[in-house]
Amino acid sequence: MTSSQNSCSINQPRSSSTCYIDTRGQITTPLPFSTIIINGLADGGGLYVPVDLPTLTIEEIVNLTCLPYAQRAAKVFECFNVDFDEKQIESLMQAAYGDNFDSNQIAPVVKVAEQTFLLELTHGPTSAFKDMALQCLPHFFSAALEQGESSAAAQPSPAVTAPATTAQPAQHASPAAQPPLHLILVATSGDTGSAALSGFKNRANTALIVYYPREGVSDIQRRQMTTAEGNNIAVVAVEGNFDDCQAAVKAIFSDTDFAQTLAEQNVTLSSANSINWGRLLPQVVYYVNAYTQLVAQNAITSGQLVDVCVPTGNFGNILAAWYAKKIGTPIGLLYCASNVNHVLTDFINTGTYDISDRLFTVTPSPSMDILVSSNLERQLFELNGRNSDLIIQWMTDLGNNKKFQVDKTTFAALREDFTSDWVTSEESLSTICDVYDQHQYLLDPHTAVAWKVAERLRPAPDTPVLIASTAHWSKFPEDVYRALHQLLPGDELPAEVSSMTGSELIDLINRQYSSTELPENLASLYQKPIRFTEARAATNQDLMQSILDFIENRSSN
Ligand SMILES: *Cc1c(COP(=O)(O)O)cnc(C)c1O
Repeated sequence: MTSSQNSCSINQPRSSSTCYIDTRGQITTPLPFSTIIINGLADGGGLYVPVDLPTLTIEEIVNLTCLPYAQRAAKVFECFNVDFDEKQIESLMQAAYGDNFDSNQIAPVVKVAEQTFLLELTHGPTSAFKDMALQCLPHFFSAALEQGESSAAAQPSPAVTAPATTAQPAQHASPAAQPPLHLILVATSGDTGSAALSGFKNRANTALIVYYPREGVSDIQRRQMTTAEGNNIAVVAVEGNFDDCQAAVKAIFSDTDFAQTLAEQNVTLSSANSINWGRLLPQVVYYVNAYTQLVAQNAITSGQLVDVCVPTGNFGNILAAWYAKKIGTPIGLLYCASNVNHVLTDFINTGTYDISDRLFTVTPSPSMDILVSSNLERQLFELNGRNSDLIIQWMTDLGNNKKFQVDKTTFAALREDFTSDWVTSEESLSTICDVYDQHQYLLDPHTAVAWKVAERLRPAPDTPVLIASTAHWSKFPEDVYRALHQLLPGDELPAEVSSMTGSELIDLINRQYSSTELPENLASLYQKPIRFTEARAATNQDLMQSILDFIENRSSN
């Protein structure tokens, strides 16, 4: 374990490969990574977590600097007992993080102001941070399916045919004419949809249906989804907001009768939502990597603490930062930045999570418009001494009373790592304008929320703060235009602007304020034909029907 050995490697002991349990204590025999990424959600509704966490030394983190991103990512994955051999992990990472990104640094860290650094997670094919995980997970998902099939052929392995209802072994279903299909369902508040569509496009034996709320995604986001290419995908608009949409999809996953109906057609459901551990782990990588970069740029000294500020919705991104800290990255406080839907800020400040009397508000940062943050369950499990009984109690309270309160010890642990604040929609737009004026850097509305919160929460001006930049500004041109012209959120745009297509507006803003090259996917977006127009009510019945129709179409093709 000494750093004086090979300077580019992480010298982790590689223990047993079966190493994941769940937050609700249902799993008694830990499952391997390849199984849990296919299952998505554990049987009983819990989330998967590693049995134990690795630790990296500061030397190991800093020395990653001599490797390209894909290999850094492979090293971090290896520490988490991912059950593929090193060569395979490396080649999957090469496929995930290559010229599909428009920066060869993949997730560059940029200094924008004194002691203020942006971690640009926006260089992937859909220009949102979701790409960081969703360009990676599908490769591991396919490899896991292959591994499962070959070991099932060799011997009916209990490790592969996991007990979760979401992963009934298609191989043993009734002798259907159809080959086995893993159908991934994604509920998205915007960016996940297009990132998942890009990641899973045309993958063998997998298909993907994306559900997005009709209220609250931007025009560009909608277009990115409804024009997505690929022969194994569908995109469905759901009447209602994101929580309605997510609740209906969640209900489908726990419906055992429906799972049986699908099994008869050789179809198994999976999730690629941010509750999937296969999405979290690639996010842990970029925080470790950001620290490596900050030291390499001489922005900080090796070992110096850096605070991290994350614009938060489902709590996946900030949880990944917490895991990065936990395994040894010198991270100080985590700032949880919220918009007007600030249930998380209130929770972090009071220890009570309460949605009983909370209205859902649509804001310029739609990916943060969330009332129930699914990944919080994982965080609480990690903070409460890994007590499943308490988790079950809190989640039951949340279901029955729309609120829960954590105990004193858990609250103290939460306060040790987290601090939180929220900003109004007006403030998020005025921040875009201010940061552009002072630093000539264009923020998107989500990153702007984080910027403002970081300004307020940093304990001293000389505290280094890393702010997660989660979308390219050009995904939200209307609000960026409003911001730069001192209009308010929801204000009508001038007639000559509102008559423009999204891409014309992006061009206009870019010419006046940025003049950098636009991401290729956004530059060509409005030339692509719209392929998906289906809409459904936000009930599990309606969404189940959409699944049956999709499978039916597939059979008739
Ligand atoms: C998804 C998303 C977020 C929220 O991330 P979580 O991991 O869900 O907390 C923030 N900003 C943008 C642009 C996003 O797409």
